[in-house]
Amino acid sequence: MALRPVLACGAALPPLWGLVLPHYLLLDDLAIGPARWGGFLGAVAAVGATLGARAVRRRLAGPQGPHHSAWDLAMLSTVAALVVWVQTSGGGGLPYLEGFALALLDVAAGWGAALGAYVLIARSRRRAPVADAELDAAGRAPAHPPMRSVFVYTALGLALVAAIVLGVGSVGRAAGARAQQIIQQSTALAELTAAVLDELPADDDARRGQVLDTLVTHGEVAASVHAADARPESLEEAAATPGALLASTPTGWLCQTPRGRYHYVSHALADGRRLWIRADVQATSAVIAPDDAPGLMLLALLVLAAPLATGIVGRELTMDLGELTTALRRAADRGADVAAVPVRSNDEIGDLARAINETLRAREAENARLARELEGADATDRARSRFLAGASHELRTPLNAITGYCHLLQQSALNEAQQEDVSLIESAGHQLLGHVDEILDISRIEAGEDAPLERRPTDLEALLRQVAQARAKDVPAGVQFEVRVTAPLPRLCVDPLRIRQTLENLVGNALKFTRAGRVQLHAGPAGGGVHIQVVDTGPGIPTDELETIFEEFHRVEGQRQVAGTGLGLAIARRFVTQHGGQLRAESVLGQGSTFHLILPPDADA
Ligand code: ADP
Repeated sequence: MALRPVLACGAALPPLWGLVLPHYLLLDDLAIGPARWGGFLGAVAAVGATLGARAVRRRLAGPQGPHHSAWDLAMLSTVAALVVWVQTSGGGGLPYLEGFALALLDVAAGWGAALGAYVLIARSRRRAPVADAELDAAGRAPAHPPMRSVFVYTALGLALVAAIVLGVGSVGRAAGARAQQIIQQSTALAELTAAVLDELPADDDARRGQVLDTLVTHGEVAASVHAADARPESLEEAAATPGALLASTPTGWLCQTPRGRYHYVSHALADGRRLWIRADVQATSAVIAPDDAPGLMLLALLVLAAPLATGIVGRELTMDLGELTTALRRAADRGADVAAVPVRSNDEIGDLARAINETLRAREAENARLARELEGADATDRARSRFLAGASHELRTPLNAITGYCHLLQQSALNEAQQEDVSLIESAGHQLLGHVDEILDISRIEAGEDAPLERRPTDLEALLRQVAQARAKDVPAGVQFEVRVTAPLPRLCVDPLRIRQTLENLVGNALKFTRAGRVQLHAGPAGGGVHIQVVDTGPGIPTDELETIFEEFHRVEGQRQVAGTGLGLAIARRFVTQHGGQLRAESVLGQGSTFHLILPPDADA
């Protein structure tokens, strides 16, 4: 099903109503030329206004939005009301005021329905962006497509307006049919009475008066005889009052007077005078004429077609979209599937399904390309790590020889200046050896070749004191270094070499970056494990770098003049994580940093 033409037909329905209704309502009606054309032109003008208003609304607010259906509904009811008014008051038998009141009622009901539809549609649309809290465990929105309710509300609104139009229109039409009957009867009565009067002798005024009096029944009919060029007084009055003389009928005039609506018929008498019959058009209450039934059925069909068409289109659309959504969800569950969404129709929905499939295929191709690239990058990365590991290993041997011979040289007979030079070479050698070890560690970790932990019950306090002792020679002048253990520490099963390396790195960093103040190594039991803090009064670390310093090669800007590789913390965090512990930093810029190392209790403790 091609949707566009169907939707176009749906959109054309309101204006079509506007065109069809006046024709239908005025077709069999009184031959009142100006009223019929006035009604028809009025309806056409209202349809034009509806279309114009739709165009303006689209331009201002776009084709979507809750006002979309509500606006059409309001315009439709206005057109319908205008038509009903023309029918009821223009010649259909209801007085102007009564017709006007009915029309106002119709407009009010139509606009009320439009307002109700607007509120309901707006509310259901507001629900459309679903809050996270409403999503189910799989992250999906609840299955209540708001679109369906939009169609339902529109259909209900249209049905309401249709019912009003039908009701008011049929009353007006029945009154119109009754009026036409009265006009025909009064015309026949005039002819008949004129024939009777002409039969009487010219001087028998008494019997003439008797005939005329007999005609007057309950004020519904009045009869009088006037000179050829004269008219009854009430008709003269109506002719002089603007708007009171409504229209001419084939046999007389229709007038609206303060006392009611009358039809005047005249017939020439043999003596040259004229007989006038005045019939009250509203005297009989309106009853739906039986011959009105086919017309009413036609109207009912017409007005029911709109909600029906809306319902069918809405159902088709929401069903197709629902199927599409299900297929798409299935595709998402199974991962990219090239023929994921079935293309069932050759229309806009089918186009959408095809477009989705194209997108899925493109995503599939893109994923494959990325996977290939990733594989390539991984291979390069592994090769780089292997090269680094090999190179660092090769560097270690000569470096060990250099530092070893320096040590030997220091024990031989050297003068003081030579001793100092050799000691400088030895410390630079050790520093270099440290860097090479770090590179070796990180490349092994990256290549996934780092050795497993060698855990054993460890006296952590003793370990802390060893670290402090080893680093004692690095404490700068003006910095106070202390170790404080608040309570006996539990013996934890850890890899002492790696924990020692971690602590040496943390303490080494603190001593390296602190120029004045103090560096403290605190430790205490915590939750069955151990909490170690390395506190310093160094330059501090910017807040946005408290995490990135644990990435490889990351060094804080402005601290690069201090020797280092940017690998120590990355390795340390890796070691701590291997133990199931945590390593994190806190810092106040310009005041100092605290590194927290938390080792959990043993798993089997
Ligand atoms: P390295 O010390 O070799 O540069 P690390 O990985 O140990 O490498 O540290 C990374 C960076 O984190 C350091 O370069 C420094 O900028 C910052 N940093 C580490 N510890 C401290 C500290 N105690 N005070 C200030 N900055 C620190």
